[in-house]
Formats: sequence, C-alpha cells, structure tokens
Amino acid sequence: MNAPTNAIESVLVENRVFPPSDATQKAARVSGMAAYEALCAEADKDYEGYWARLARENVVWTKPFTQVLDQSNAPFFKWFADGELNASANCLDKHIGTPVENKTAIIFEADGGEVTKVTYKELLARVSQFANALKARGVQKGDRVLIYMPMTIEGVVAMQACARIGATHSVVFGGFSAKAVQERIVDVGASAVVTANYQMRGGKELPLKAIVDDALALGGCDAVKTVLVYERTPTACAMVAGRDITFTEALAGQSTECPAVPVNAEHPLFILYTSGSTGKPKGVQHSTGGYMLWARQTVNWTFDMKDSDVFWCTADIGWITGHTYVAYGPLSAGATQIVFEGVPTFPNAGRFWQMIERHGCTVFYTAPTAIRSLIKAADSDEKVHPKNWNLSSLRILGSVGEPINPEAWMWYYKHIGGERCPIVDTFWQTENGGHMITPLPGATPLVPGSCTLPLPGITAAIVDESGNDMPHGAGGILVVKKPWPSMIRNIWGDPERFKKSYFPEELKGYYLAGDGAVRSEDRGYFRITGRIDDVLNVSGHRMGTMEIESALVSKTDLVAEAAVVGRPDDLTGEAICAFVVLKRPVPTGEEAKALANELRNWVAKEIGPIAKPKDIRFGENLPKTRSGKIMRRLLRSIAKGEAITQDTSTLENPAILEQLAKTN
Ligand code: ATP
Ligand code: MG
Repeated sequence: MNAPTNAIESVLVENRVFPPSDATQKAARVSGMAAYEALCAEADKDYEGYWARLARENVVWTKPFTQVLDQSNAPFFKWFADGELNASANCLDKHIGTPVENKTAIIFEADGGEVTKVTYKELLARVSQFANALKARGVQKGDRVLIYMPMTIEGVVAMQACARIGATHSVVFGGFSAKAVQERIVDVGASAVVTANYQMRGGKELPLKAIVDDALALGGCDAVKTVLVYERTPTACAMVAGRDITFTEALAGQSTECPAVPVNAEHPLFILYTSGSTGKPKGVQHSTGGYMLWARQTVNWTFDMKDSDVFWCTADIGWITGHTYVAYGPLSAGATQIVFEGVPTFPNAGRFWQMIERHGCTVFYTAPTAIRSLIKAADSDEKVHPKNWNLSSLRILGSVGEPINPEAWMWYYKHIGGERCPIVDTFWQTENGGHMITPLPGATPLVPGSCTLPLPGITAAIVDESGNDMPHGAGGILVVKKPWPSMIRNIWGDPERFKKSYFPEELKGYYLAGDGAVRSEDRGYFRITGRIDDVLNVSGHRMGTMEIESALVSKTDLVAEAAVVGRPDDLTGEAICAFVVLKRPVPTGEEAKALANELRNWVAKEIGPIAKPKDIRFGENLPKTRSGKIMRRLLRSIAKGEAITQDTSTLENPAILEQLAKTN
C-alpha cells in the first residue's frame, strides 16, 4: 500500500458482503446502486439545483425560496434564506385532510408497559393547545425554551409546540444533573422551562422538577419566567407560586387550534448540546428549512419508510437522534412510530425484543452500546435471548452513535434481523442534523462495520492534515467538502469556537468531523476508525481505536466490550492500553493475568503484533456519556495514572472511574 506517511493505518480485513435481496431492492425508493449513483450524479452536476429540487419536494414552504446556498459569509452558510416555513406544520398540519390524519402517529409504551396511542389529528390538537399555553405564559417567537422531559408523548408535544410558535427549543436529557441543566439554561438564555414532576425509569420514580429547582437556584437563570410541569405521576412536587404551573392548569381553557407561525428558513429551530465524548459539550444551533428537508428526506431514503411501517428509534429526545428520528423526521414522513419511556433492561433485558413483537415493529433503530449490552445479557441468560420472541415483523435495522464492531453487527443481523433485514449503519453527528454516510436498504451491499457510502449530495472525503485527498486504503481525517442544508449553523453564542472547531484553515474550508476514517480499496466504502483525538502512535504506526477494539470484541466467547487508548511509553512512543468488559465477572490475580495474555495473543493473531495491547485492564463497565458512548479521554488519564481534571459533566457512571483506576 502506498500510503502517505501520516496515514492512519488500517489492518482490519472484512470480506463478508451482504447485498440486498431482490424483493427488498425492488420495493425500495432508491432501488439498486444505479439509482443511488444517478442521484449522486445529479448532485454533482448541479449542486444547488439538486438541493432546491429536494427542498421543494420535501418541505411545505409558506413562502417559496428563490435563493439556494448563500456562501457570502462562509463558514456561516445559509440555505433557502428567503424562504419561510414552519417545522410543526411540516410534521402535522400537512397531513390534515389526507388519509394520514387518522393514522396513529405515536404508539407510546410507558416504563411499566401501559400503551397509549395518538393519531396525527389528535397530536396536532395537543401540540396546538400546548403552544397556546406557552403563548399565554409569555413565550414568543425567538425565545428559547429549555425542555427537560422524560420520553413521553408530552416531550414531543413540547418540542413541536415550540416550533409551532417559532420559539427555539433546547432539550436536555432527563439524566443530567442540576449543574448541567443550569449551565444550559444560562448558555441559551432560556425564558421558560418545560419539565415533569417525575420520570419513570426502570420501575423507579425519579425527580425531574426538583432538579430544575436546584438548577434555577444555582443562579444566573433570571430570564426564566415560567416553569411548566407535566404531572407524569400522581406524586406532588414543590411548586413556586407565580413561576411554576402544572400542565393541567396551563392547558385549561386553551384552544386546540393555534396557527403555525411562519419563520425564516434560517431561524434556529433548536440548540442542542453534543454528547461530550471528546470535551466540553458544544451548543449546536440548527436551522429550520435545511434541517426539515434532511429530516424528511433521510427518513425516506435510509429507512425507506412505507405507509405500513411501524418505526422505532430508541434514542431519547435529549439527543440529536431523538430530534431528527423521533420528534421531526418520522412525523414529517407521516409514519407510525413507537416512543418508549423506559430502559432496555427493565423488567428484563428482553424488553426491546418483546416490544418489537408486541407492536409489530418493522424498522428498528438503536445504538451499538445497547446492542453490545443486550448481547452480553442474552449470552448469560437464555430467558432474555431474542429467540424467545417473534421478530418476523422487522424489515430494516439501524445503528447509530458509535462504530458498530463487525461481530456485534453479525449478531444483530442474525439474531434480530433473522438474516433477512439490511442493517443501516448510519454515521452522523449532532452537527450534521441527519444521516451523512449510510447504506440504503434497497441499494447498498452491506459490509459489517462499515457505514458504506455518503448519501447523494454529501461530499464526504478522507484527507490528510493539509486537506489533501487520501487514496483508498489509507486512513485519514473525515471531512465534508461542501456545505449541506442540515449542517450546524453556529455554536450558540460562540462563532469563534464554531470556526475553529469545524472549519480549521489548514483544511481548505472543509467541514471537519473530528473522526478518522478509511475507505476500502475495492468499493470505496467508509469505515470510521475512531476519533482523531484518540489516534494511537505505536512505534511510528498511527492507528485508530476501532480496529483494536473490534478485534477484542470478536473474541465472542469472552469479551462484551472494549475501549483502547494510548499511554506514553519510552520504547514505542505510545503503548496500547485496553479496558475490557468480559461476559463473566471481573477476574483478579492469576486468572486476570492469564486472560490478559489470551487476549493479547488473540489481537496479535487477528490484526498483527503491532496492535497487541501492552496493558489490559478489566472492569464491570466503561466510562460512557449519558448517551452511551465510550469516553476514551477519561480512560487516557487512567492509563497514564493521572488525576482526571477534564469536563465530566456528561459522564453517566462516575463510580466506574475509581474502579478502573484501581485495577492492575
Ligand atoms: P462531542 O462532540 O461533545 O465530543 P459526540 O461527538 O459524542 O460529543 P454526538 O454528536 O452525539 O456527540 O456524536 C457524534 C459522533 O458519534 C461522531 O462524530 C462519531 O464519532 C460517532 N458516530 C455516530 N454514528 C456513528 C457510526 N454509525 N459509526 C461510527 N461512529 C459514529
Ligand atoms: Mg462530536
């Protein structure tokens, strides 16, 4: 291989290929690779014309746009800038008077298993009524509303209601601390907060409103004039007179009609903070027009959504996936979707499979972290193995959030998809608004562990540190060469950080994703090799984390999860340190030593001696963000034996740090 010297080396070989079945291909919107390539060619030939066509076909404009891409103030790009629309009208009003109006929009399953369904018409009425309640509390177009809600129909209603009146929402995941809530309230300058008294998770009643109270008491939140409280459970919570109001009171007497306020295409629909895997979370500001275009278009392409589908995206509305593929995309496509309040392990780790059977789910979209933990559960307890449920309704599976290790992919394909369902491994980020690199179920031959090819019009590429293209087979930095409609518009209130983070000068104005990737020599398929911050340099070989982790996870009789980081080493520059979660209790003493040796040799055999981890530490779990992503930056400190001084506000399980620091 003639790779440039600064390439990220790739050693993982994956020869398995799964083309779509004839039936899947025939029935699909994008049917076969020729159809995919035709779309790519259209975008290539007339970039703006292509996006304008999609924007006209997918979005209802109250005022049609005449401009497409405005690059005059790059990298602050504008799309469809003189057009006007309303995001909520694009999800709800447009179905009224069509057969979709009486279709089920949301099948809600509560933590305890109770099911509630709403039709599109009912959802519109509820959104409108809540929008009127917001207005009555003084919330206006342009105001920011912080939403701190459990996964409920009301959570979606709150988001849609903000959109309806032109208020910008900022959803904060219901597991975050008072400090994290306060920081976000201050950063976005929220004038209202929407929350619930409690949330139900895993059979427990957990406070939400009390955390909002604590957040507001931390100071700097004077702009908050009103707190709306959904009574999720009958248990009372403290209410501050004048400021706090229950949903029941706020909705009383409000009309179920509320006109959708047209906003400019560039109006900020929402601000959402990134997961914090690599550092302090960034307040990502999204537009209305470009975002809605991509939410709708990607639901149709990636999930090939049909009228008869029952779609289930398991992401919380606190994450971008829960925005684009719960709150906006499926609704704009007129789909029926499942919204689930609980956790995958309650009452047992068969919950997801049971719900797929119960609701006849056809398209299922979840994260590798969930898949890996459910594999571990199924391997240790027959009773929660997916074979106990009838999953034959499924036709498409999806993965998002982290690279999916090829062995986890194979398990998902075999045990959940019955070797029948294509898996769409969707690469994208909070900053992207929607899918970027992903297979299309009726077109793309699948390769486990690869997100395959960019969607038509997405100019993803792999470059070196100066922005020069890398040849296929040589890993490098993932970039997007041209602006696209649903891209981040700004880091809220911090345009300098926006420019520095995403458009560094040396990269020729390309959008920097922050991930490393490699394209396969045969098909040009993309595989994400890990974050560029996490690249290891061992004896002059630059390696991503994903391949070594995947090699460890491919020891399927032993390993459930693995994370790999580098630590300084006199001899090799950096030594590889692996943190491993086994499918059995954490070993100690001689057993730990023997297992570590076994794993070292396994990696050497699978991908080569250079990738052999020097240290192997076992733990019950790995430090993860609240969205389930591995935080390697914290593991790096542990591997070096340093105290952790970085931002840990988004860390899910702080106790794990101590445990991992103690081992070996
Ligand atoms: P921060 O930017 O604060 O560090 P984050 O990057 O984890 O947080 P998100 O926007 O939620 O925040 O995650 C996007 C990242 O998730 C991508 O940059 C990539 O690293 C990873 N990712 C998402 N989907 C995939 C996928 N299908 N394959 C590989 N990696 C993925
Ligand atoms: Mg990121």
